[in-house]
Amino acid sequence: MIAAILCAAGRGLRAGFSENKVLRELNGLPVLCHSLSAFAPLADEILVACAPEDMPRIDALLAPYPNARTVLGGATRGESVYNALKAAGSEIVLVHDAARPFVTEKIIRDCIECVRTYGSGVCALPLSDTVAEVFDGNILDVPPREQFAAVQTPQGFYRNKLLGAYERARADGRIFTDESGVYAAYAEAPRLFFGDRANRKLTYPEDFAPAERAGFGVDTHAFGEGDHITLCGVKIPSAHGLIAHSDGDAAVHALMDALLSAAGLRDIGFYFPETDERFAGADSMALLAEVIGMLRTQGLAVRNASVSVVAERPRLFPYIEEMKQNLADVLGISVSCVGVAAGTNEKLGYVGEGKGITCFATVLLRKGT
Ligand code: MG
Repeated sequence: MIAAILCAAGRGLRAGFSENKVLRELNGLPVLCHSLSAFAPLADEILVACAPEDMPRIDALLAPYPNARTVLGGATRGESVYNALKAAGSEIVLVHDAARPFVTEKIIRDCIECVRTYGSGVCALPLSDTVAEVFDGNILDVPPREQFAAVQTPQGFYRNKLLGAYERARADGRIFTDESGVYAAYAEAPRLFFGDRANRKLTYPEDFAPAERAGFGVDTHAFGEGDHITLCGVKIPSAHGLIAHSDGDAAVHALMDALLSAAGLRDIGFYFPETDERFAGADSMALLAEVIGMLRTQGLAVRNASVSVVAERPRLFPYIEEMKQNLADVLGISVSCVGVAAGTNEKLGYVGEGKGITCFATVLLRKGT
């Protein structure tokens, strides 16, 4: 039998939150629920160590999991895990930080396998940074980093052995940051297995923001008077122009809507209304730059953009590279991150009849740079 012990008694002080960080929402679900759903299919019992004031809310989150229950946490992580170990009834225990919501089924299976093979299994990662021994603002020594590993969770052990190690540590009044330390000091050298970089611990407020956001936009313009059309800022000779209040750059309008939508903002008509004389004959590339500025104030940067133009005519093939470059310049990204595709509608519908053109755009935004 396997027990998962989820440590959820922390206060999230480093994150600067007033509530327990595992109750905060991440991608639409409380943080705790992500690790709950990862462990539920693989554990016979789940014990969530939590503070008394969080118990009612956590009990409610556990309702869909008949094999999960709360355990009173302690003042330290060690106290919380010790309480849960005493309450657990399984032979093997997997201790996990509830603030690591990205744990995968593979990591949990590897942990169990490691315990069965070696008696213990501690999830860890090789270090990519150099580690220095520091004292009083000076580096005393820089040992080879192969001697070190970054220790994460889950950490799996036979329950009786870990409980025994905790009891001896308590008798000595020693406090450890995690189970691997207690086990190394009072049982034996725990075995490590390599996990996954994605299994990070949520610590700071920015860790909780959705990192990436996708957006989609569409725009259509009808053909009318004129001898050119403008797409992605490129003036393209044409037997007909596009009817528009601005320069009629449907590709850029679709892209602007995709960007605004990804950022959770209103659409292009809301910020640049056709009734406003300021936008009569407007250069859409300048409006696109304004939208990019709006996103920057929200800390959002464009990762890539993809635009598709559907038109029977004119032929766009000779202008594609210039269109891509224009977009890359305003979006502030490499031209390799911009796609512009052009196709016809096989003579079907209003596009096929040559009455107008439709453009589609998708974008990916990222918080930060
Ligand atoms: Mg438009």
